[in-house]
Amino acid sequence: MHFIKNYRILTKQPGGWFKPIHVPFTRMSLSRSFHGSNFVNSLSVKDGLPMRLLLLGSPGSGKGTQSSRIQKKFNIPVISSGDILRQNIARGTKIGEIAAKEIERGAYVPDDIMIELITKELQNKQQNWLLDGFPRTINQAVALDDRLAMTDRSLNLIINLSVPEEVILQRIMDRWVHVPSGRVYNLSYNPPKINGIDDITGEQLTKRSDDNPETFKIRLQKHKALTELLLEYYAKRNILVTFCGRTSDEIYPQIERELLKRFGSGNLG
Ligand code: ATP
Ligand code: MG
Repeated sequence: MHFIKNYRILTKQPGGWFKPIHVPFTRMSLSRSFHGSNFVNSLSVKDGLPMRLLLLGSPGSGKGTQSSRIQKKFNIPVISSGDILRQNIARGTKIGEIAAKEIERGAYVPDDIMIELITKELQNKQQNWLLDGFPRTINQAVALDDRLAMTDRSLNLIINLSVPEEVILQRIMDRWVHVPSGRVYNLSYNPPKINGIDDITGEQLTKRSDDNPETFKIRLQKHKALTELLLEYYAKRNILVTFCGRTSDEIYPQIERELLKRFGSGNLG
């Protein structure tokens, strides 16, 4: 297939930019971490089974909210492609320049840029992580699989969020973000303590340039077409679980249960 051919050419470059890393796994035990104003139990990893998670879902389906909850509970780093791009835009990098144009019109950043950006992030991570927003195309999915296989770190759970369309447009309109951290607020159900200000840093919140009804429509259409292909691609592997609900509060407990079932609960206090 064409995308596979494209990808193979990319990886055969001499002095390839992906270097395998081998990080010995050490069992981490339960830690109690401080998050905001609450102490929460935080489970790192159980019995040597690393969490290598991918979160899929339409724009506005709550990927950011779910990933920060999973991050807090299970103490794993999140790699969010959208957040990384927005940070590049804020820093005025070359990638940021390209991304700003694409994001504003609801289009995607080219695969080769995304693949390089995210695999670089993964090189710095150890055994556990959650990917949000990448891969988004089959080209990206094949590239990711290939690179993860090289270091024996293949994905072991794909979390697919299914939220009715009528719910998500309102969410998008009410959404404000803190770009440096990726923290997301919603004026109707998760407002900041002070309007327009991040609770933790006191810095300004901003509206995303693509959170408007016109761009949202394009993002949604694009997402539908591509997600079908991605779901088909991953369904063969038996690691895909779909969670349905109208709100993130409704969906999160289902995800947590699934994670505890698959990755262990032994240490939770
Ligand atoms: P959400 O509303 O849940 O954040 P989203 O998928 O619309 O969902 P982001 O994941 O933050 O939002 O991505 C924002 C934009 O960044 C996308 O519309 C796209 O332009 C670009 N982008 C992010 N990830 C990728 C990717 N893997 N490939 C190409 N473009 C990407
Ligand atoms: Mg997001």
